[in-house]
Amino acid sequence: MKKNITIAIDGPAAAGKSTVAKAIAKKFNFLYIDTGAMYRAYTYYVLKKGINPKNEAESIKLISEINIVLLNDGRVLVNEEDVTKAIREINVSSFVSYIASYKDVRLALVSLQRKMAENTSVIMDGRDIGTYVLPNADVKIFMIASKEERAKRRYLENIDKHISCTYEDILFDVQERDRIDSSRAFCPLKAAEDSIQVDTSSMSIQEVVDYVSKIIIEKTHIKL
Ligand code: C5P
Repeated sequence: MKKNITIAIDGPAAAGKSTVAKAIAKKFNFLYIDTGAMYRAYTYYVLKKGINPKNEAESIKLISEINIVLLNDGRVLVNEEDVTKAIREINVSSFVSYIASYKDVRLALVSLQRKMAENTSVIMDGRDIGTYVLPNADVKIFMIASKEERAKRRYLENIDKHISCTYEDILFDVQERDRIDSSRAFCPLKAAEDSIQVDTSSMSIQEVVDYVSKIIIEKTHIKL
């Protein structure tokens, strides 16, 4: 039987992980799993319920009533509500790292992520994929870029998607999330020891896709 391939892509906020992961998924016919969208969806629901996301006890109570679904076409549903666009808004971005620091939330979402990765070849992006979610991944990439470059890319991406924001807000958001994500106790943002670091600061998306594809082919011997 053909072995399923698992690819982990981690790195700080707005390093280009999801754009690259989506392109790789299409090229190799892998399932793409955007774990950040799941933490964002949870945060959206907490805010919708009028709960302060900085209140851990209240926020984790929602675990049993929240149903997050990532559809193959990229849409994200929370209890059947389409939240694809709403989870990219700056209010969700500015609270998501608090929600993602709660161990109970992580355990619930990680269990969902592992289930989605069963019995199929996947490329999953996030912060703790190589270190915790898929520790036996065939290829682990840790993608980095300067904070200014990351903020610039995310700003242009938001403008393109008609999400209102300023470059300054995005720069602040990216730095704040990295600070909270790197310093949390459980599953912080960290490169796995066996990951390959890719600095995308001066690379185009296509160059990164080609480079990562080459690594995947070398490591897994997969044929296109
Ligand atoms: O990937 P994205 O930037 O959309 O993720 C949003 C937030 O979700 C991150 O800043 C982080 O707080 C959290 N996250 C996480 N672990 C993951 C994926 C995302 O803590 N595996």
